[in-house]
Amino acid sequence: MSERMPVLFLGHGSPLNCLVDNDFTRGWAAVGESMPKPKAILCVSAHWYIPDVKVTIMPDPRTIHDFSGFPKALYEMDYPAPGSPELADKIIEILKPVNAKPDIGWGIDHGAWSVLCHLFPDADIPVVQLSINNTEEAAFHYELGKLLAPLRDEGVLILGSGNVVHNIGEYDWSGKTSKPFPWAEEFEKFVREKIINHDDQALIEFEKAGQAALLSVPTPDHYLPLLYITALRNKGEKAEFVVEGFDGGSMSMLGIKIG
Ligand code: ZN
Repeated sequence: MSERMPVLFLGHGSPLNCLVDNDFTRGWAAVGESMPKPKAILCVSAHWYIPDVKVTIMPDPRTIHDFSGFPKALYEMDYPAPGSPELADKIIEILKPVNAKPDIGWGIDHGAWSVLCHLFPDADIPVVQLSINNTEEAAFHYELGKLLAPLRDEGVLILGSGNVVHNIGEYDWSGKTSKPFPWAEEFEKFVREKIINHDDQALIEFEKAGQAALLSVPTPDHYLPLLYITALRNKGEKAEFVVEGFDGGSMSMLGIKIG
């Protein structure tokens, strides 16, 4: 039995964050330095959003460049962390109630590596990814997250990678928007309040936040990783906002550390 690991939700934003030094990337690096070195990492990335619950079991996962239109250097990015078939087997066993299946086709996607390259630049910690079943409602993801709790006591860092507010259609590519749009700010404030008050039910029922939720979460893929993380918070356990800020007006880069 190891020391209980914290759990993390990180807003990953643009894959370009992998190549730059900014407040967000420095924040991620500081988070990595703030915790004991994990034995392995289980990543729930917004970018593996499929009609199934799958767990990567390969010993040498490939680095996936799952985007288009970015500079060449980003396609050359490699995050050569090993996998962990042993941990993957354990997760599949834990997730039997949701019929989790082994996967050998995916790898480490940019939702995972764009933050991991700053959190753990040595890429020497095994990484396993868990898909997000896109046919299920928010409550399913929250309950699934709870099943993962025993891993915290085994030195596994569970990392949700998405964005609390993520509206690409409204994103200001000109770089002139330094402030969040009012609806983006309103919805992030809603999320912060619910985390401060440890009101997980309100986070599950985020759509009740109305128009701000609709604009901030036009599709649930980047929001749902948050529910896996809040599900793992014990009563009375502290939650910190370790990375803050917005990008392009419509993307919250909020990062949350629990434990
Ligand atoms: Zn993304």
